[in-house]
Amino acid sequence: MGTRTLHFTCSRCGHTADPLDWHCIQCGGVIHVTNFPDFNETAVQVHDWSLWRYAAMLPVERRLTLGEGGTPLVPVRLPDGLIWAKLEYLNPTGSYKDRGTALLVNHLLAHGVGSVVEDSSGNAGASLAAYAGASSIHARIFVPASAPAAKKRLIGLNAELVEVDGPRSAPTAACHEAARTAVYASHAWSPLFLAGQMTCAWEIWEQMKHHAPDAIVCPVGHGGLFVGLARGFAALLAAGLIERLPRLYAVQAAACDPVVRAWEDNMDDTDTAPESPTIADGIVVNRPVHGREILAAIRDSGGLALRVDDTAIAEAQTLLLQRGLLVEPTSAAPVAALGTVRAHAGSGAQIVVPLTGSGLKTLRH
Ligand SMILES: [Zn+2]
Repeated sequence: MGTRTLHFTCSRCGHTADPLDWHCIQCGGVIHVTNFPDFNETAVQVHDWSLWRYAAMLPVERRLTLGEGGTPLVPVRLPDGLIWAKLEYLNPTGSYKDRGTALLVNHLLAHGVGSVVEDSSGNAGASLAAYAGASSIHARIFVPASAPAAKKRLIGLNAELVEVDGPRSAPTAACHEAARTAVYASHAWSPLFLAGQMTCAWEIWEQMKHHAPDAIVCPVGHGGLFVGLARGFAALLAAGLIERLPRLYAVQAAACDPVVRAWEDNMDDTDTAPESPTIADGIVVNRPVHGREILAAIRDSGGLALRVDDTAIAEAQTLLLQRGLLVEPTSAAPVAALGTVRAHAGSGAQIVVPLTGSGLKTLRH
């Protein structure tokens, strides 16, 4: 759609937002793009092996790419059965975030933005730093001082790294303060970031020979990937290209599980949950931006919200490492939940697990 003018609207009060607002200035709600093009199978550029094969369905023009998207979908034999792993950690900076960052940064470039702020537990910051560096945007990125050293080093290569002591919510608070006078390139809030994650669903559909899997099991923090997958498959359903949505399973660490708590209490939205240390540092989000939409997507697809503890996550990570899949602990959380998923979805269910982040950034020496 490229040159088409986007409509940015508050999902809560309907206020029309400016293209660079990070949330609704009237009510603080999440901003959506309301004039998305429909999914059009014949518009897929099949010779482009990146997410830009879906350029006709994306809300920004490509000015910069690092080769994001086009990740493999491989069968993995685990002790309890087969899964299909979508190797999102093979994106340019080693995490699924690059899909969203690519769209967000191209949107910033289209609006002539030269300087941004962001907060991250590591992967989103490393992703934004790389794309900012490649496009000469100055990025100031607030991270927890406790973030893995390799993630901080990657951020520092191409951006200004600001370490903040305290819980995961502390750098977010510091960034929100900075965002009063700067453009906030937020992976958690940006509707462009979510649009990038929809392409993961479309790739899975193509890689499964134009079918949806029975179930997708996904780690959830703010819900960017989860909601992107839900919207991506909803677009395929609306276009008549699949018959039903895959069941969507949201997996959180027991150390910080606002989505699971809200699901168990049959709530429409998440509340602020306590947070304690966990090896799944990528999904410690005590108040998910997309809580309402995550819960709706679970309900609409017939899925579940599940919590797993660090012992189970560590065992799942070892299982994956032993099969040559180099993922960080956060990415192993869904594998730790597979027993419950199989019992719920059926033993013959075709299950896809996006492996979200590279283990190379969390290796200790
Ligand atoms: Zn609003």
